[in-house]
Amino acid sequence: MTTASEVIARPPTRLDLVASAMRPLDIPRANRIYVNRNLRLDKIEMVGFDMDYTLALYNQPRIEELSMRATLHKLVTAKGYPEAILGLAYDPTLAVRGLVIDRENGNIFKPDRYGFPGRARHGLASIDREHAVDLYQGERTRLSNRRYAWIDSLFALPEAVLYGCLVDYFDRHQLAGKPSYSTIWENIRECIDLAHRDGSIKTVVGDELAGYVERDDALAETLHKFRSSGKRLFLLTNSAWDYTSRVMSYLLDGAPKRVGESSTPAPYPSPYPSWRHYFDVIVVSAGKPEFFTEEHTFVDLDAGGEPLRKASAGPFQRGRIYMGGNIKDFQERARASGDRVLFVGDHIYGDMLRSRKSSNWRTAMVLQELEHEVTTHDRIRPELSRLDRLDAELIHLDGELNERQVALRALQKIEDDPSTDEPVSAAKRTIKEAIEKLRRDLRAAKIQHRTLESSIFCRPRTESLPAFGSPKRR
Ligand SMILES: [Mg+2]
Repeated sequence: MTTASEVIARPPTRLDLVASAMRPLDIPRANRIYVNRNLRLDKIEMVGFDMDYTLALYNQPRIEELSMRATLHKLVTAKGYPEAILGLAYDPTLAVRGLVIDRENGNIFKPDRYGFPGRARHGLASIDREHAVDLYQGERTRLSNRRYAWIDSLFALPEAVLYGCLVDYFDRHQLAGKPSYSTIWENIRECIDLAHRDGSIKTVVGDELAGYVERDDALAETLHKFRSSGKRLFLLTNSAWDYTSRVMSYLLDGAPKRVGESSTPAPYPSPYPSWRHYFDVIVVSAGKPEFFTEEHTFVDLDAGGEPLRKASAGPFQRGRIYMGGNIKDFQERARASGDRVLFVGDHIYGDMLRSRKSSNWRTAMVLQELEHEVTTHDRIRPELSRLDRLDAELIHLDGELNERQVALRALQKIEDDPSTDEPVSAAKRTIKEAIEKLRRDLRAAKIQHRTLESSIFCRPRTESLPAFGSPKRR
């Protein structure tokens, strides 16, 4: 008799494989990979990863608040902003990826796929739909225009939150010499960059990785599976060596040891002595997107992260750390190029667009918020279907009303024409009654639509689609 453990240990037969291929996929929709072009993974020789927000997912509300606090501090100390702004409350529901900042007017809006504004705010106050349409629908919103700034990464969300809070603050306080909306934006950009550059943010994160970085137990296993199937792996991050090393060690080797503490075991029984051994090539301070467009040379680093005087040449050496560089040299030295490379990142411009424009690398994007969006979308599917039906009903009622109004005008012309004496008053009465009923129905449907739409889009971020989601225009 076959024991249960023997059944489990038995390699799958062809029939098992056929049977498994016939079973429906049971991967939850929120955990699936979505594609807009097919990808033959067996043709991929090398898989590369960005680190921040790709391999290292951050505790978003915590790191956003940390960035905001560090930036507010710089605004007070370096730009002379009033100390009272240090007490501004941080609300993570105020920003999502894809927002546009109108720096001239102190506004923030979320354009839909055609560039038209969905929801819009001035500072923290909502701008009504008609006013937003007046402001932004007359001409195409060109993001290359200096008037606009695009919030295109999770990294940048605190900038939008800060802008909303500070515009609101200065609108409410009549202070002498207060900055213009445009200056507020420039100051935020300058101070948040400074907070990142001088270590105000990363030092705190690096000292408290468990509080800021989410460790995924499946990461080590996934990377190992890639390697076991013959793929070579590389890390290509803009972060510097010391920070990269601490974060990657936390993700793959286990929690960092602190004085007096024993280390937490690695999340997966790793077959590698350290995180570095998962990767064939490690590039830090890569300077993306310039990595894809310029020709900076690679600098070799020693084990302590100090640049070596003599740069190496030829194929990359496993175990070495490289800094900077460019895609052309990378492909030569890694002996992999074009569509045999798959690069996984999170930044739509720095990781995706630039690499696609400069090479044939295949790309995959990590959209951290998609899991929440798909889960929420599934949960409120009945309400969204009802919204769709109400949309269809509104279009239908609108069309009917137009038809009746055209007919009424035609009857009126007949009645006003002295050359005819056709009796039209009965028909006019009937049509007027129909118009009145249609108007009542239309009003009722609009109220239902508005109520349902706000119940869907205006819930807190934890239970709804983002407050800046793009509702259908009506
Ligand atoms: Mg990143």
